[in-house]
Order: sequence, then C-alpha cells, then structure tokens
Amino acid sequence: NDYLQSVLDAPETQQEKALRPLSFSDFSGQGKTVERLQVMVGAARARGEALSHILLHGPPGLGKTTLAHILGNEMGSNVRITSGPVVEKAGDLAGLLTGLQAGDILFIDEIHRIPKSVEEYLYSAMEDFRLDIMIDQGPNARSVRLTIPRFTLVGATTRTGLLTAPLRSRFTLQTRLDYYDHKTLQSIVERSCGLLEVPVDSAGSSEIAGRARGTPRVANNLINFARDYAEQRADGKISGKVAAAALELLEIDANGLDEMDKRILRLMAENYNGGPVGLGTVAVAVGEEQHTLEEVHEPYLIQEGYIARTQQGRVLTPKGWQVIGLQPSEG
Ligand code: ATP
Repeated sequence: NDYLQSVLDAPETQQEKALRPLSFSDFSGQGKTVERLQVMVGAARARGEALSHILLHGPPGLGKTTLAHILGNEMGSNVRITSGPVVEKAGDLAGLLTGLQAGDILFIDEIHRIPKSVEEYLYSAMEDFRLDIMIDQGPNARSVRLTIPRFTLVGATTRTGLLTAPLRSRFTLQTRLDYYDHKTLQSIVERSCGLLEVPVDSAGSSEIAGRARGTPRVANNLINFARDYAEQRADGKISGKVAAAALELLEIDANGLDEMDKRILRLMAENYNGGPVGLGTVAVAVGEEQHTLEEVHEPYLIQEGYIARTQQGRVLTPKGWQVIGLQPSEG
C-alpha cells in the first residue's frame, strides 16, 4: 500500500522515456550538479578524452539515470545501463567492460549493492583500465589480464555513505542531487503535460508540483492520475481544484505527505511521545522495509523539517507534531 515506493521502484515506462530530457538545456534544476557536469563535458570534449568517473547521489527519482543519458548525448557516446545487484560475479563485470567502446558510459545504478568480491575488480578497471581475472581452479588456476577501453563509470547511489572509501575515492566528481523546489517542479509538470498533450492550467500544475515531494518521477506519475481524474470527474482539464481532488483520492495531502509518511509521524507521536526512536523500530511498527523508510520517506520528512536525526534516534519536531494535529504529552 506504499504508493510512493511503488512509483519509485517501478521499472521505467515508455511514457517516462518519452518525458526524459535529452540535453542539459532540457533539464531543469540541480544547478550546481549540472554546471559541474557541463564543465567536465566541455573539458573532456576539448581535450578529446573520455569523461572521468562520476558519482551521482541522492534520493530516488530525481534524475540520476536521466543525467547519465544526457552525459552520453552531450559526449556523443553510448550509454550502457546496469545496476549493482545485477553484477553478481567478476565475470559479469568483465563481460560488461570488455563490451564497451572507448568513451562509452557505463551507468551502474545502486552501485553500493555491488558485491564486495566484484568491487575490487572495479578498482583497477576504473584506475588502470585493466582487469586481472582468475580463470580455472586448483593447479590450473591462472590470472589473465584484460585491457579495457577508456570508459566512464557513472555510479548512482542513494547515499555516498553506503559506498566503501576505496570505491568512493576513485570518482573524480561526486555530486549530490537534491529535491526540486516548487517552481522548478512546476515547470517540469508543465513541460510533461505539454509533451503528453494534457490540458493543465497554472493552478493545476502548481497543485501537482506541491504534492510531488520535490521528485520529478512522482510528479510525472501524479499527472497520469490527475489526467484520468480530470477526464472522468471533470471537463478533462487539470485545474487546481481537479488536481487537488485527484490527489486527495490518492491520499497525498497538500504537503506531499502520503499515508505511510503520516503513519510514521503518528506512530512516533502516539507510541513514543515524539521519540527518540530507532528507525528499525519504526519500520517494524509501520510494516515497511527499513531501507524504504531510509531512502524514500525519511529524507523527505527530514528535509521538510518534520523529523530530525539525533544520536539517540529520530525525533518528531514541532512542525511534525503540528502536521498530524497532535501535541506531546507531559512527562
Ligand atoms: P532512480 O534512482 O529511482 O532510478 P533517478 O534519480 O535515476 O531515479 P530518473 O529515472 O532519471 O531518476 O528520473 C525519473 C523521471 O523524472 C524521468 O522519467 C524524467 O523524465 C524525469 N526527470 C528527472 N529529472 C528531471 C528534470 N530535471 N527535468 C525534467 N524531468 C526530469
């Protein structure tokens, strides 16, 4: 029943592909990250070299995959997409790397989930563009050196803290994607509605932006439901009122909080008088995986100031109490 998680975990749809910005000029927001990437692309192109390795981190749905594709377009190189859990063995990595051409981009989503045994091979691949792979076993075991074309690794992770220090240090640029502000998200909603030919007015796009918790992937998904709602319950146009009614029906409130967010806040208030409480305890009590709370819910609740992280655990802030309409009890 976790709407957000299902949106953020779902594989990319055809529609999302169609909405994906293809160049830096199409991509709004993330000013610092975009500028850093533009500098690197400009320099690499001027020198006729491959881009150096880049680590993108931040909550899901903010555009890491999109940026990897844009880097490919801007560099005029191919982009190969994979993800940490898929690269199970050194052989998988060898297959991926030897299939690349010079200048290609290898995008590894959830790079923190690469098994440690494979990660070590990645070090020499990133640094020296070679892989020393052991083949055969026992007395026949021997090491074979594979030379790899100069490629660019673009890694994506929700938090850099999940990466080992040796892996992290091999990225030339580590840059963070942040939640989008309201104005930027509204312009993304308007761009998407334009491409999808969905009628929307500025109150409608503002309403959707306000409830999309700073995340373009969520915003694009809400547009779909708002469009259905507008066609079924109104005159087909997403006005402010129509958008608000549609998203209420999805139980996403005006602050962008969904049912799970509110369950988390209520649990902290009612069972722990606002905390401190450990995230693991909260996860069990609300019946959600801890990593979903850590990656999807908590970052937004913290960024919006509803909860805070302390040494002893998570605590509800005054704003957190207020949004669920409760007050801490004395003693
Ligand atoms: P995940 O890590 O969960 O895969 P992600 O950070 O890689 O997420 P993307 O898949 O790149 O996110 O982006 C999700 C969707 O949001 C894309 O389909 C894209 O259309 C849209 N999007 C992302 N960033 C922007 C942006 N700056 N402007 C317009 N649309 C965007």
